[in-house]
Amino acid sequence: MSYASAAMIFDLHSHTRCSDGSLEPLELVARAIDQGVDVLAITDHDTLDAYTGLSFEQGQLRLVAGIEFSTQWESTGIHVLGLNIDPGGDAIRAGVHYQTEARRLRAGRIGEILEKKGIRDAFAGAAALAQGDYIGRPHFAQYLVDIGRAKSVEDAFRKFVGDGKAGDVKQHWADLAQVVQWIRDAGGIAVLAHPLKYKLTRTKLKRLLQVFIQEGGQGMEVVSGKQNPQQTAGMGQLCAQMNLLASCGSDFHKPDTCWGELGRFPALPRNVTPVWERF
Ligand code: AMP
Ligand code: MN
Ligand code: MN
Ligand code: MN
Repeated sequence: MSYASAAMIFDLHSHTRCSDGSLEPLELVARAIDQGVDVLAITDHDTLDAYTGLSFEQGQLRLVAGIEFSTQWESTGIHVLGLNIDPGGDAIRAGVHYQTEARRLRAGRIGEILEKKGIRDAFAGAAALAQGDYIGRPHFAQYLVDIGRAKSVEDAFRKFVGDGKAGDVKQHWADLAQVVQWIRDAGGIAVLAHPLKYKLTRTKLKRLLQVFIQEGGQGMEVVSGKQNPQQTAGMGQLCAQMNLLASCGSDFHKPDTCWGELGRFPALPRNVTPVWERF
């Protein structure tokens, strides 16, 4: 695939209702076009449902098939994007199936943990809020708000299900090597999502990237949503130093929240190779 102009806007990280976003796939595409996005990857958590019956040519916008897999490294929950995959491939389909089952088991476990904290019926409550295959911490958070145990979704994450809290269950996911292999078997590029979100020291982040590269990882998100120029420069430097391809995306979930808008994030720095050069 070749792309005409350096001025094109690539948003290679976004979510729909098929995971924890609020828009239908075609509503997301329409919004991306409104925001001037030229190339969009829908990267729902552990599912490819958004691609069912979806054309890759959407007027002036081109879609690149993607996914965001959940996994863990040491004790840190991490996310790996698979970009430019063939969503019909057997290996990635088997991977999605594995992760769906992992999500179901994990949701049961989260329910048990919350039960011990005196929160009744959290699994049933979260399952009732979930649609399709995706059941996740946002559903537990919403249930906690609905029953008055948290003031807001944000508060529920802070107290119960956020990273490092009791409901942050990670052990069910396929391991890092496995998710990277699924992506590569589908002809895609494995990209470490939002490296700054893991709150690792620079030394530990480098160690993660070294392991990621050993397992077949090829890229990292240098720009993820709103971030300051120092963060962009720092991630660009790290990306170049590790010889990785650079990706960028909004991680859009819903309109009108503090989360990033589609297409609205800083440009990639000049010293990196954009991942789309390998699409
Ligand atoms: P899960 O896929 O079940 O691990 O849930 C993780 C998802 O929860 C992330 O992809 C975010 O969309 C959402 N999330 C994580 N932290 C927060 C937070 N503090 N407030 C609201 N949503 C969050
Ligand atoms: Mn999410
Ligand atoms: Mn993520
Ligand atoms: Mn995401």
